[in-house]
Amino acid sequence: MITLALSKGRIFDDTLPLLRAAGIEVLDDPETSRKLILPTSRPDVRVVLVRASDVPTYVQYGGADLGVAGLDVLLEHGKGPDGGGGGLYRPLDLNIARCRMSVAVREDFDYTAAVRHGSRIRVATKYTQTARQFFAGKGVHVDLIKLYGSMELAPLTGLADAIVDLVSSGNTLRANALVEVERIADISARLVVNPVSLKLKREALRALIDAFEAAVQGVAR
Ligand code: ATP
Ligand code: MG
Repeated sequence: MITLALSKGRIFDDTLPLLRAAGIEVLDDPETSRKLILPTSRPDVRVVLVRASDVPTYVQYGGADLGVAGLDVLLEHGKGPDGGGGGLYRPLDLNIARCRMSVAVREDFDYTAAVRHGSRIRVATKYTQTARQFFAGKGVHVDLIKLYGSMELAPLTGLADAIVDLVSSGNTLRANALVEVERIADISARLVVNPVSLKLKREALRALIDAFEAAVQGVAR
């Protein structure tokens, strides 16, 4: 049995066409079913539904053989695009769930001046590790405030001067009178694989990874 970890929503929806191109249909709809283990048209392949940020954990510890996780989640887990930081085999860029991780502030906040004057900046984010590294690399002093959602609210209420969050269209920022002032990383979802699984289930996993790779190229064309 091969177990693939996905999160509900964007990642699940964007992975379905790739699975389909690889000849695999998921036989349940996570939006209507309460099941957390979904069978597929391949009797030897099943999908498990986990929180987006739990995908690397499931794959690293073998709760799933492979999974789809955003680069944002991998970076925050200390795993780079090449799997550096350990525990996962060479992530394949699936080119789905594309967005960017950016710094945003209120339209009336002078970020450039704050950085230039060496002021301490209060930054609210879900991505505290990534933000810490980014600002340390720039030599900017920051106080980080961990949030789990609605990051846009932080600068509007005075909780923080800036946020680090994912941006795609920029509509949410605009709707809340925030502006993007720096891009930290381009984000897309990656296929991550447990290295032990790759040894023990070599043939089956290799075929599946190759099918994903071909599907990504097919969709890109
Ligand atoms: P949870 O709901 O468990 O807190 P989450 O809110 O991060 O997790 P999603 O919003 O489904 O879950 O995001 C899953 C992944 O999709 C993110 O890790 C990121 O890689 C990607 N993503 C998030 N927001 C966007 C966006 N606006 N556009 C494109 N991709 C995005
Ligand atoms: Mg969400």
